[in-house]
Amino acid sequence: MVSAEGVRKRFGGHEVLRGIDLRVAPGEVCCLLGPSGSGKSTFLRCVNHLETVDGGSLRVDGALVGYVQRGDRLFELRPREVAARRREIGMVFQRFNLFPHLTALQNITEAPLRVLREPANEVRERALALLERVGLADKAAAFPAQLSGGQQQRVAIARALAMRPKLMLFDEPTSALDPELVGDVLEVMRGLAADGMTMLVVTHEMGFAREVADTVAFLDDGVVVEAGSPSEVLGNPRHERTRAFLSKVL
Ligand code: ADP
Ligand code: MG
Repeated sequence: MVSAEGVRKRFGGHEVLRGIDLRVAPGEVCCLLGPSGSGKSTFLRCVNHLETVDGGSLRVDGALVGYVQRGDRLFELRPREVAARRREIGMVFQRFNLFPHLTALQNITEAPLRVLREPANEVRERALALLERVGLADKAAAFPAQLSGGQQQRVAIARALAMRPKLMLFDEPTSALDPELVGDVLEVMRGLAADGMTMLVVTHEMGFAREVADTVAFLDDGVVVEAGSPSEVLGNPRHERTRAFLSKVL
């Protein structure tokens, strides 16, 4: 579902991604770990067409990010085509970014109604089912300001799922939450993983990574230093930099 080979990205003179190699198979959960500034968010943003890639190849579901292949030639995607590709990818950020003037239900129905132009009754049914799935069936009419951070984040997950993405990206989804609210959000993510969603998750939640991830990749200074099963990378890291990082967060 995601295949990165030698992915490079620079901002001005600063090369932030220096050849990222990573693969996430359909139905798998990959957790990205690494120190602040190592390029985790930039990589997710590249996967989601929010940044252009400067080198290497990055594919989502077989298609090169930013390009369309016709015959044996590559053409840059037009904005409309980028938007179509992005619709297939759900992204959840550290901050919940809900529309403050819309209820939880309306936040979820907004894109399917306006972007996909699906029938209102179907969209509403699906949104209510999603609220149920994230444990917020009773909050359909609540506005974001009336919800806790954890509840807002669960609405944000439901909103992303309402577009029926084939890939979900999470960028430190629990980092801005009070500790007692983290568990409910991780529980929703655990459920998604169990249902077979392909997920790329930047997180510092080592328990989640250990229990839910199929693969864990440790990023440092723009490269994947090591990747493997959680027991390999977390339990028996081979690289000094991974060990040093883990000794600080575990
Ligand atoms: P992480 O998510 O691992 O903390 P980021 O991907 O956010 O790391 O950032 C990696 C590096 O890229 C940092 O040094 C950051 O300052 C830099 N960076 C990120 N986005 C931009 C940008 N839009 N312009 C310039 N530098 C950026
Ligand atoms: Mg980040």
